[in-house]
Amino acid sequence: MATQHVIIGGGPAATNAMETIREFDNQAGITLISDEPAHSRMALPYWLAAQIPPEHTHTADAAFFDQLNVDARIGQRVTAVDPSGQTVALTDGSSLSFDKLLIATGSSALDLPVAGSELAGVQNLWSLDHTQRLLNATEGVEQPRVLMIGAGFIGFIMLNAMHKRGWQLSVVERESHVLPRMLDSEAAGIVQSWLTSRGIDLHCGAAVESIAEAADGSKTVTLSNGTTVSADVVIVAIGIKTNLDFLEGSGVETDQGILVNAQMQTNFPHIYAGGDVAQGPVLGSDQKEVHPIQPTAVDHGRVAGANMAGENVSYGGSLSMNILDCCGLQTASFGRWDDASDDVLTISNPADLVYRKLIWQEDRIVGALFTGRANDMGMLNDVGMVKGILQTQAQLGAWKQFLEENPFDIRRAYIAAGVPQKLVSTTLLGRSSRPRQYRFGGGSPTVKANPSHAVFVDTKSS
Ligand SMILES: Cc1cc2nc3c(=O)[nH]c(=O)nc-3n(C[C@H](O)[C@H](O)[C@H](O)COP(=O)(O)OP(=O)(O)OC[C@H]3O[C@@H](n4cnc5c(N)ncnc54)[C@H](O)[C@@H]3O)c2cc1C
Repeated sequence: MATQHVIIGGGPAATNAMETIREFDNQAGITLISDEPAHSRMALPYWLAAQIPPEHTHTADAAFFDQLNVDARIGQRVTAVDPSGQTVALTDGSSLSFDKLLIATGSSALDLPVAGSELAGVQNLWSLDHTQRLLNATEGVEQPRVLMIGAGFIGFIMLNAMHKRGWQLSVVERESHVLPRMLDSEAAGIVQSWLTSRGIDLHCGAAVESIAEAADGSKTVTLSNGTTVSADVVIVAIGIKTNLDFLEGSGVETDQGILVNAQMQTNFPHIYAGGDVAQGPVLGSDQKEVHPIQPTAVDHGRVAGANMAGENVSYGGSLSMNILDCCGLQTASFGRWDDASDDVLTISNPADLVYRKLIWQEDRIVGALFTGRANDMGMLNDVGMVKGILQTQAQLGAWKQFLEENPFDIRRAYIAAGVPQKLVSTTLLGRSSRPRQYRFGGGSPTVKANPSHAVFVDTKSS
């Protein structure tokens, strides 16, 4: 009899697993349950910046589910999982049986526990609904005043989108500098000067004490240092939590997220987890971590999907990385960027907005930090090459000393260590990657691949 797969979630982990299962198994039953439409949260800033319509954030529609013969239950939530009975319970009171289950429920934004956080106009900015709510609240207002509480990676992605729209922006961060889980204080100092010069009002080292509403609906936020900030909308972006509540009492092992092995299996071999909700293998480490970023969600989904379909794929582990456009200034951090116990090479030139830090363990780079303008000194190319060096865990030998003497000449070390060849021959599922099948509105791709891309991908079919 055909295997029955149930997938909970509609984000990148879920949709990549769905497509991968179908690639390997034409007969299996697949049911996908998601309370939101299948979409990519990573596309929300483009909608917020008015660069795309909301539908372009979607990653599957009814026609695509039909094409893959997937029973999609959009708008439904799973309320409980019974691992031994092999069933999931849904909000409509029904239940579904599974042979194999993937939990890809992602994470949610945290609320702020202060007086006034329940007011209309105080909101998170994490989902389709939140984005729509912010767009509704600011419609017709020429230059809305938006205050963001929390200066983390995702918050800053959305800040960048609002900056593109010319909105008046303020940020409050409890820690002593912005992006505390992505940048050290020196790099953050460069980012802060840049943002201030762009007209963004920053308040670091101050916590929010309360939010009050004036008669005209505007909000006044009082900070622990006595300062008050006024805004039309207040965004709460203080962190995220993994969506695990429905697993209570199920016996599925969790820590920060659902614990999974290199096959993406939980402690129940027929139950898999992936994406933001999973705490899985880390590249070059024995620890398991939650890496709530899109590339990890895609990898997890593809590895889980292949294994659910009967393949035997082992995941090498995810790399913690954040690459961010801070209103025109680029920043990136990788791996163990904050590990002070290792060898560190730092270059700092705040006047030119340049900061680079490479963290070494013997002759391997295990972490990196970058700040700079996109076009300065090959900044973005260097970011990409250092990412490749980390991903391939290349041993740089004598090139370590070369980089110490020529820190802006990453390309030579990258090529000499054979990183491009290693990257080209690295595959997740043991074969070349294939283009995603979903096309918005059933259309065909309109962007032609450059002929030089043919070195890496087969462009003949597109
Ligand atoms: C605004 C924004 C911008 C981002 N930009 C980037 C970026 O530039 N680069 C990057 O690497 N990452 C980015 N991220 C992070 C990235 O989007 C996430 O890491 C990724 O979406 C995780 O995918 P996922 O499939 O694990 O979970 P999600 O995408 O969160 O999908 C999980 C889905 O499951 C649904 N669900 C949850 N519980 C249930 C239940 N019980 N029953 C049914 N459905 C349920 C959720 O509502 C959700 O729709 C961004 C995130 C946001 C919010």
